[in-house]
Amino acid sequence: MTGTPYSFASLMEITKRPSVVFVEGHGSWLKDADGKEYLDFVQGWGVNCLGHSPRILVEALARQAEKLINCSPAYYNETMIKLADLIVKHSCLQKVFFANSGAEANEGAIKLARKWGQKYRQGAYEIITMDHAFHGRTIATMSASGKAEWRQLYEPKVAGFPKVPLNDLDAVQAAVNERTVGVMVEPIQGEAGVLVATDEFLKGLREITRQKGILLILDEIQTGMGRTGKLFAYEHNGAEPDIMTLAKGIGGGVPLAALAAREDICCFEPGDQGGTFNGNSLMMAAGCAVIEELTKPGFLESVAATGAYLRRRLEELSKQYGFGKVRGRGLLLAFDLPKETGPKIVEEALNRGLLLNAPRKNTLRFMPALNVAPEEIERMIAILGDVCQVMS
Ligand code: PLP
Repeated sequence: MTGTPYSFASLMEITKRPSVVFVEGHGSWLKDADGKEYLDFVQGWGVNCLGHSPRILVEALARQAEKLINCSPAYYNETMIKLADLIVKHSCLQKVFFANSGAEANEGAIKLARKWGQKYRQGAYEIITMDHAFHGRTIATMSASGKAEWRQLYEPKVAGFPKVPLNDLDAVQAAVNERTVGVMVEPIQGEAGVLVATDEFLKGLREITRQKGILLILDEIQTGMGRTGKLFAYEHNGAEPDIMTLAKGIGGGVPLAALAAREDICCFEPGDQGGTFNGNSLMMAAGCAVIEELTKPGFLESVAATGAYLRRRLEELSKQYGFGKVRGRGLLLAFDLPKETGPKIVEEALNRGLLLNAPRKNTLRFMPALNVAPEEIERMIAILGDVCQVMS
């Protein structure tokens, strides 16, 4: 596709990629090496919450890079303190540990829960997780995930992650035993195809975990940082977690993740947890710039309004072509297709200058920048409509 002579030979192949080579991005738009523009409704799998290279992030990174990039996690630094304070101020939790990816934050959550179980629950270590869950690609987070395709991969996995169906409180009740230390869940299973945990289920989980004296761990890596129209998805139902993990949007595109927890369960001792890049000043500055922008008056309300608009337009398109019901929240939406045409639609859309994502072969997912403009939504609908027309 790209006319420019690039060779991909030196790159380890870990996924099938189209041959486009991107060189530039601004807001909702990307440009490839041939100068062709693409409207981006993937946004790095939902990480560029303010679009590509937003001014505030560019300036915050440049300012911080001039001042201090990394002074080692063995020392406090100014932006690390500032970002931790911001997360604490805007969430229900009191302590924060920084990491570099969602998987690493979840790995930290698992370790914290297991340490807590060892200290306060007679060695309990099992964490109940959901069928189809996605918690990352380290061995422990793959073990916690409920992705059917991974069942036989990299065996033996880490033990201690019994699975239950999403939205089934009876199954959770039945799975709790003396080895159980917590329940881990995504408020919306994004990678599984935007499967929504109901408010009743999440409130029920809060009840059960409180009654049993175990931990509720929310993986808000995809749903957090404004994606659903609230800063954190738990704000929709009040089922406040004991531990929450954040990544994707928190860095606005740069590698940054966080593990936040209730103060009284924080039991890491020196040496238990860490990492060379964790809490480095540069990424912390990015996180501060992002969270300050997301919490400006009216920002999250505008995400909710844009989400409602995108939903309405998707519902109209879906009805026109006989697709499934639109599901999700805010600007994390999806619908099912009657056949496994997702990859073909994604390919045709790319050819027409639109980036879309099919997390399953029969599902299209939409996760644009949180500041996507109505005209950009209209453009996406027009291109997708053309693709559907040609393919119907
Ligand atoms: N948890 C959830 C809910 C995710 O959606 C993802 C990534 O898609 C992860 C964890 C893993 O994050 P990362 O890819 O940054 O390791």
